[in-house]
Amino acid sequence: MEILKQRILKDGVVKEGNVLKVDKFLNHQMDVKLFNDIGEEFAKRFAGTGVNKILTIGIACIAAQHFNNCPVIFAKKTLSKNLDGEMFVTQVKSYTKGVTYDVMVSEKYLGKGDKVLIIDDFLANGCALMGLIDIVKQSGAELAGAGIVIEKGFQVGGKTIRDMGVKLESLAIVDSMDNGTITFRD
Ligand code: 5GP
Repeated sequence: MEILKQRILKDGVVKEGNVLKVDKFLNHQMDVKLFNDIGEEFAKRFAGTGVNKILTIGIACIAAQHFNNCPVIFAKKTLSKNLDGEMFVTQVKSYTKGVTYDVMVSEKYLGKGDKVLIIDDFLANGCALMGLIDIVKQSGAELAGAGIVIEKGFQVGGKTIRDMGVKLESLAIVDSMDNGTITFRD
């Protein structure tokens, strides 16, 4: 997605530990017009898959407007194990924070008959996405695929998830960030 790549080059900052900071437009201050374009692009790439729910731990509400205004389920994160027995729960190791946390979704909102698209901002080693896929499996819903805004192609997540046979669409794939210079895969 060309405008996304241009925006990453303009406003992205490469930090230590292979972290790309995009908080000027993606995950702190948010550019709503860009979000809308991102939603439109995901809708194109997942056209005809019958998505009726979107599961996310990041951005997705605007994307849902391009999927017949389907519900967006915001998976809850918590560091405690204070569960009430009516949640699908999985564990995710945070790439940026280095801690492991629970991610959970109420059994009320996901189940058999649902066709789920997972959307997340980044894909690095794949822990976050694997966690969300695990929740979809636990619920008995069908996984339509995963839409990622920025995949770091030099980390293992993309290969792991694609090897599982999941339809994975990343709007910008960063192949390297060596010496602070970002290069994309075509
Ligand atoms: P993974 O679980 O695939 O290793 O990492 C994905 C999660 O870690 C994303 O949900 C995102 O929050 C965070 N993350 C991983 N790499 C980066 C990065 O380079 N920049 C930012 N801002 N977040 C990242």
